[in-house]
Amino acid sequence: MYSNILRHPGPTPIPKRVELAMAQNIFSHRSEEFVKLYQETTERVKPIFGTKQDILLLPSGGTAALEAAVANTASAGDEVVVVTVGAFGDYFVSICEKHGLHVHKLEKEWGEACTKEDLIDFLKPLSNIKAVFATYNETSTGILNPVAQLAEAVRDHSDALFIVDGVSCIGGAPAEMDGWGIDILVTGSQKAMMLPPGLSLLAVSERAWKVIETNCTAVYYLDLLSYREWAAKGMTPNTPTVSLIMGLSAVCDLIEEEGGFPKTVERHEVMKNMVRESMKALSIELLTSDEYASPTVTAIRTPKGLDLSAYLAHLKKKYHLDLAGALGHLQGEVFRFGHMGYCFPSDILQAVSLMEAGLQDFGYSFESGAGVKAAQDVFLSSLKK
Ligand SMILES: *Cc1c(COP(=O)(O)O)cnc(C)c1O
Repeated sequence: MYSNILRHPGPTPIPKRVELAMAQNIFSHRSEEFVKLYQETTERVKPIFGTKQDILLLPSGGTAALEAAVANTASAGDEVVVVTVGAFGDYFVSICEKHGLHVHKLEKEWGEACTKEDLIDFLKPLSNIKAVFATYNETSTGILNPVAQLAEAVRDHSDALFIVDGVSCIGGAPAEMDGWGIDILVTGSQKAMMLPPGLSLLAVSERAWKVIETNCTAVYYLDLLSYREWAAKGMTPNTPTVSLIMGLSAVCDLIEEEGGFPKTVERHEVMKNMVRESMKALSIELLTSDEYASPTVTAIRTPKGLDLSAYLAHLKKKYHLDLAGALGHLQGEVFRFGHMGYCFPSDILQAVSLMEAGLQDFGYSFESGAGVKAAQDVFLSSLKK
């Protein structure tokens, strides 16, 4: 039996080394073994975030860490800005609204990025903004927002904190949390971090800690001050996902063995270009421009006349290739190819080849092999650099 080739933008495949690391005997989260694991592992994650701040580990999906970022920095009635360019930006809006925040929504068309100019224009007439929230990688559209520039806009035109959802790209996209001036950066385990779902990671700037210390925070399990207090002892406030942290340690091994995090980022860049060039060679349109294209997921427009749900089902059934549909109003119009985490150029060649086979089965007319060749050209030229 084949297992499916999972090319979703999360969850993503787990390396065997990580699975084996997670199979170790469990130990107490109040033991010396845990303190060693916690301290060493969180230290090794810092380059992936581009921070010197502590990495906090929450026993949760990414959503809980986003909610922690909202609830710890702002309280009911506070004014905030949420940048939304797709489904996950809207998600941030919902979390803020649920917490009674007064949300100013900077909305862009799905498939577009929010630029620095967009944010500056939006911030200018506003005052008393407590925080600006933005998605780094919009998973629904395959847009990588220019968060380094957005951070500049926030700094230059407000006193707000800048809080970033990096769930579907941290581990595959460059991140300089300290250098860019991000105040809270959040990610989850099951996207580019090569782990199963259930662990979220977050780091907080000095500036944000000052706000958190005085914020009236109505959460207990997600109280970041208690996370900080326990992190100082190399532990978490309550029982963490110990096995996932063992896995995270193996993830750090793999990234270090690849040659360090910048090499991992380069691999994602190559995979992005392979996917994009292959679709162009097949005359299949992409949702986003090259300029803001995500290194971890590509949204592809459904070729004219193709029954998308039948095509995706066929790819999965006949070729064991599992691609993702779209979210919200893009359903049917777009599908998504995840290329993050435990994914290599060879996997892209495989998936593009199977996509071509499926297109042939559906009578789509194209030059057979053109997509694979384009992807291969990108890959081979990347090796010459
Ligand atoms: C997947 C995702 C989330 C939600 O994470 P969960 O682990 O499902 O809670 C949030 N933001 C982005 C950008 C995502 O891709």
